[in-house]
This record gives sequence, C-alpha cells and structure tokens, in this order.
Amino acid sequence: MIIAANLKTNFTRKETSNYIEELSTYMNQNAISQEVLVFPAMSSLDTNETKVIVGAQNAYPTVNGAFTGEIGLTHLEEFGIKTILIGHSERRHILGETQESLVKKFNYFKELGFKIVYCVGEPLEKREAGKETMMEYISAQYEGIDTEYENLIIAYEPVWAIGTGLTPTLEDIEEIHATLKSKSKAPLLYGGSVKVTNAKEVLALKNVDGILVGSAALYGEHFCSMIGYAEELS
Ligand code: PEP
Repeated sequence: MIIAANLKTNFTRKETSNYIEELSTYMNQNAISQEVLVFPAMSSLDTNETKVIVGAQNAYPTVNGAFTGEIGLTHLEEFGIKTILIGHSERRHILGETQESLVKKFNYFKELGFKIVYCVGEPLEKREAGKETMMEYISAQYEGIDTEYENLIIAYEPVWAIGTGLTPTLEDIEEIHATLKSKSKAPLLYGGSVKVTNAKEVLALKNVDGILVGSAALYGEHFCSMIGYAEELS
C-alpha cells in the first residue's frame, strides 16, 4: 500500500527533518514494507536520505528560467527528488491551475520518469448535482493524462472532504474507487479527512490502494499508526 503525507505549508526544515526521522525510525523498528511518501514544503526538500520517499508538492515544468516563485528540475535534482504531486485541489482551486497547465506539467515530469501522484476530485456542488454530473467533472480531470503511465499513482480526493472533517461514506468511497479503477489500473489512493480513527476502515476497502493524508499527517505518531494499519492489512 501507499501511505502519503501532504504537509502543505507547514513545518520548518528542522521540524520536517525530525518528522521524517520519526517515520523512518518507526518503519525500521516495525519492518514496514509499505511505500511511504512525504510531500514537505519546498524549503525542506533536502530532507531526503531515509526509506521515506520525499516528493515535491509542486514544480514548474522547466529545467530553470524566468518563472518567479517557482522551482524547476534543477532544484529537484539537487536533492534527488523524483516524485511529484500534481493536480491537488488547492492548486487547482486556490492557485488557479488549469487542466491544460496540469497536463503540461504531467507530461514534462512523465518524460523524466518521475513518480507522479495525480489528484482528482469533485467540489460539493458537483457531488450534490448527482452522480452523472460528478463523474463528468472527475472524468474531465483525466483528460490529457496518460492513465497507463507506469509511475502513476492517482489520488481521489473529494474537495469538500479536504481539511473539513467530512468524508464520504465507506460505501461511497468503494463505489467511486471501483468506477475510477475502470479508468486507470494505477494505484488509487483515497484522500480527504483521513485520520487515525478512520484510516483502517478506509484502507480495508476494495480498490483502495492507500491514503493521502493532510492535517492528520502532521501528527507523526498518528501517521505512523496509519502506516502500521496498512502493514497489518497488506
Ligand atoms: C490533502 O490535502 O491532500 C488532504 C487529504 O487533506 P486532509 O487530510 O486535511 O483532508
């Protein structure tokens, strides 16, 4: 299974380094064979020398150049980063990334062989508009994406569940994961208010190959427990 932590705009370099050390120690002590990914803030990408796979929350599809506020391939390579998160709802909805720009980014990092965690998910109004509308919306997020790319991981994250404490029912997660699996055989993670109290039941669902965790992942002990659940279930 794949257990991923999106640390967003949290933790200093020191805190990130302590955090990754905590996960790494837990993994070693418990002989964890699951894939653990951590996406820290850009300033902490240098914390990359353990079993934990460190990935970038974002990068611009360029080697370097005049793209103020962005980092490019040179900066990822400096720290040996080969994993990237693309299409997170906060980048789509707050930072205004379009499907077209995400496809460009996806193709750029695909050509370089990066492991790509590509996020899809619907806002509340699309869910409330019914299944057909919701699936049309999610399907549009697959447009232009090579769903057969060997290093692809997809994360289904309903926007209304991110950071809200709300989650779809387990039946809903199972149903949508089954539908999304028909679009791509890539490992499919669930994300959106996963916490230590619900992680085990989510991980146990059919067609759930792992979880992407935001807020609750900030508690190292909780995130380690989630890694432990994945190990037990595997
Ligand atoms: C996320 O932002 O990817 C996420 C899943 O956040 P949270 O766990 O806080 O809902």
